[in-house]
Amino acid sequence: MSDKRLVLASKNPGKIRELESLLAGVGIDLIGLEPDAPDVAETGSTFEENALIKAHAACAATGLPAMGEDSGLAVDALGGDPGIRSARWAPGSDADRMHALLRRMATVPAGQRSGRYVSCIAMVTPGGKEAVVRGELDAVIGFEPRGEGGFGYDPIFVLPDGRSVAELSMAEKNTISHRARALAKALAILPGLLEG
Ligand code: IMP
Repeated sequence: MSDKRLVLASKNPGKIRELESLLAGVGIDLIGLEPDAPDVAETGSTFEENALIKAHAACAATGLPAMGEDSGLAVDALGGDPGIRSARWAPGSDADRMHALLRRMATVPAGQRSGRYVSCIAMVTPGGKEAVVRGELDAVIGFEPRGEGGFGYDPIFVLPDGRSVAELSMAEKNTISHRARALAKALAILPGLLEG
């Protein structure tokens, strides 16, 4: 019998909520990391490398197939920053970092505020198979936060229709997000990877 259990190598509640909702009904039993599981140093220089580092650590710790996700916001006017450091480039909370980004962008005019969310998902099995996929969502950085949904930079991440990602329902975000796009690619190859 093939094992459909998959450990999710993340303690980020916003990310876990989205991936759980995206994986509901797919027949994969997503297992969270224990809250006291050791944090893994994200020493990679790309989203792909960091996703693999997380997945390998969770697979080694549990002996189960594991999924690691690394994501962030790349802003063109900032040369791709905050990029892989999106969760830690400025001190404080997610909200503090969102305001820090707004301050850094204060002198950047409309028309030069493009950026994208990037999500890389790595899957690793105890048998040594691995795969990494990437999803992206383009938008522009707004001038002030709007909306209550989502997490992280969503209130200042503005879509072509003028809404911020925090103004979408989770169902709407899950149809277009970088994470949903990466996960769709991951799901296409996951059964083959888990089949042993
Ligand atoms: P990671 O947990 O090291 O992959 O860091 C991901 C960080 O990127 C989050 O803490 C957020 O700051 C940002 N991020 C990734 N995906 C999203 C999203 O869907 N909305 C808002 N911020 C995001």
